[in-house]
Amino acid sequence: MPHAPGDAPATASATTAASVDTHCPYCALQCGMTLRPSAADVGVEVVERTAFPVNRGALCGKGRTAPALLSSRVRLTGPLVRRPDTGRLEPATWEEALDRVAEGLAATRRAHGPDAVGVFGGGGLTNEKAYALGKFARVVLGTSQIDYNGRFCMSSAAAAHQRAFGLDRGLPFPLADVSRTGCVILVGSNLAETMPPALRYLTELREAGGRLIVVDPRRTRTAEQADLHLAPRPGTDLALALGLLHLVVAEGRVDEEFIARQTTGWAEARAAAMAHWPELVERITGVPVPELRRAIGMFCDAENAMVLTARGPEQQSKGTDTVGAWINLCLATGHAGRPLSGYGCLTGQGNGQGGREHGQKADQLPGYRKLDDPAARAHVAGVWGVDPDTLPGPGRSAYELLDALGGEVRGLLLMGSNPLVSAPRAAHIESRLRSLDFLAVADVVLSETAALADVVLPVAQWAEETGTTTNLEGRVILRRAAVSPPPGVRTDLAVLNALAARLGWEKGFPADPEEVFDELRRASAGGPADYSGITYRRIAEEDGVFWPCPAPAGAGDRDGERDGDRTGVGPEDDGAGPAGVVVSHPGTPRLFLERFATVDGRARFVPVTHRPAAEEPDAEYPVLLTTGRVLSQYQSGAQTRRVAELNEAAPGPFVQLHPLLADRLGAVEGAPLAVVSRRGRAVAPARISRDIRPDTVFMPFHWAGPGRANTVTNPALDPVSRMPEFKVCAVRVELAGD
Ligand code: SF4
Repeated sequence: MPHAPGDAPATASATTAASVDTHCPYCALQCGMTLRPSAADVGVEVVERTAFPVNRGALCGKGRTAPALLSSRVRLTGPLVRRPDTGRLEPATWEEALDRVAEGLAATRRAHGPDAVGVFGGGGLTNEKAYALGKFARVVLGTSQIDYNGRFCMSSAAAAHQRAFGLDRGLPFPLADVSRTGCVILVGSNLAETMPPALRYLTELREAGGRLIVVDPRRTRTAEQADLHLAPRPGTDLALALGLLHLVVAEGRVDEEFIARQTTGWAEARAAAMAHWPELVERITGVPVPELRRAIGMFCDAENAMVLTARGPEQQSKGTDTVGAWINLCLATGHAGRPLSGYGCLTGQGNGQGGREHGQKADQLPGYRKLDDPAARAHVAGVWGVDPDTLPGPGRSAYELLDALGGEVRGLLLMGSNPLVSAPRAAHIESRLRSLDFLAVADVVLSETAALADVVLPVAQWAEETGTTTNLEGRVILRRAAVSPPPGVRTDLAVLNALAARLGWEKGFPADPEEVFDELRRASAGGPADYSGITYRRIAEEDGVFWPCPAPAGAGDRDGERDGDRTGVGPEDDGAGPAGVVVSHPGTPRLFLERFATVDGRARFVPVTHRPAAEEPDAEYPVLLTTGRVLSQYQSGAQTRRVAELNEAAPGPFVQLHPLLADRLGAVEGAPLAVVSRRGRAVAPARISRDIRPDTVFMPFHWAGPGRANTVTNPALDPVSRMPEFKVCAVRVELAGD
């Protein structure tokens, strides 16, 4: 009999006899860990895996406590179906639940057409699941309406990468290179809380004499480590980057030789930057001119230097341009296209990188191919055994898809996401979810979104199934199953297999992850994110393989369709061996050393200019709100809020504000404050701190209920990436009484 929430703890039913090397289920660092059999009811315990090069054994509290959720009391261990007579979710058999989902999706399609059925995925899904979900949407459902929560996370950096370099991989170099460069500008990242084991690379950088500049409106734990902390007003990072580029030109620090040899578009980008003189930038950002000059001195004096961005500059209605401005700074100074230098994005979600490469994004096919490219459609349709003309075109982006629920999109299948907490303007999204004709959710726990569903399908967790993810470096790694899921739980792949069969596709959706990965390899062959030379065995033997990694000539599955060498892979890496000998491609740890992935091999400057946030303070809403994460919670908190140790460390939301603002409001530490925007009101205790600007308040976004930060945030979208402006909106802060 399946357990409903609140029943007795579920127990992982079977444990492997030996220890298993695997990876953390949470963030994009994908720390290596070993799961050792344990007498505890979860069946395994985490031990250090020092041999894995990215985290070298270090784990944060989230990774260390990850097994706790394997037997949580709130774990779903059987399907739930909403009964028409009671209106409540009640236990059901898998047969009944799957029949209800298949019929719910089919009925919506029959009544309103294929695009009335939506699919919403997640950046935590393995590559195999992301691939199978995209194929399921386009082949079985025939819908264009698929996107995923990774759109909220890294899409602006991805778009800027594509524009400048012709290819998007978060870091074009291994993370270890960071400790060997000369200077890092870290923009809008609080690594010390979001991925603590990565902080050691910045510490090593400084111990070796390198300089660290942190750009963040708050003095975070990461900013405390910096040689220089620049604290711009939220939403002005673009102006800051332009002001720095202006100074690079004014102070004669431009690398003219590099620009002439390896770039295009400098004249236009230079002209745009020259319109942002330092005093103007100081007025816009609040960062004093001498600090701008100091930053440029450190960055240009270093023989090698990097800019790393994260959600701060990316989650803005001008996020693509903002990242583009930081890339321009790297290009103008020649800090790109050579070892230990360049621009990188610190991807956030566990499989944020792989999740955006293999087809769950609205405009994409596997291998990072474009859905509107006829050759890409033909290739992938060939692998799928369908007519390319039957594949739908690009669909809506994540927020636009959620906004269309109950309107043009009337039925939704959701996997690995909790938009009721994580989407901007969340109260509106909640009302959209409630207005659906049919909602099915596959999840590990009864998340806030799952609680609204007509059918909830309980699925296996990271330690209970095998699959690949791609970490922030572009390193494809293998998570291995260490325990069996509880009886009554199935894998996401098994769910898609069963649904596809009910909808007329007996074949083409295997539940075995390695079988799915082998098909993914064929589908990605020749695409920008080419995985065709990567196998489970190679990943295990090599501690991960960096894409692109084409299959060697003669190894099959190539289809003769490679796009040519546009990835910066050197000639020594081209996979060609002596006649008759098949040589494996080594993978590509470092991109762009020979050439950029554009048609002409040159990086592209993109001229960008500052513009205000979509919503600036005014008399009614005079304060800026910025949002983010804390050390002991992860994303919407669906998992981490159910781990006792993490919940004790970070039990709820708060409003961080400066003492000057607190005095003005009459606020005292711990008293409830209401943060009110044009979209709604969130209430949380005051946390008074000098580590934030007086014109700004900060709220973490991990919680539902009255303290839900995303009730307040602005869904204004970047015109290129369609990423919402989570990082800045105008609010009023007031005492909330009791
Ligand atoms: Fe897991 Fe990220 Fe923490 Fe590493 S840093 S243990 S991947 S949450």
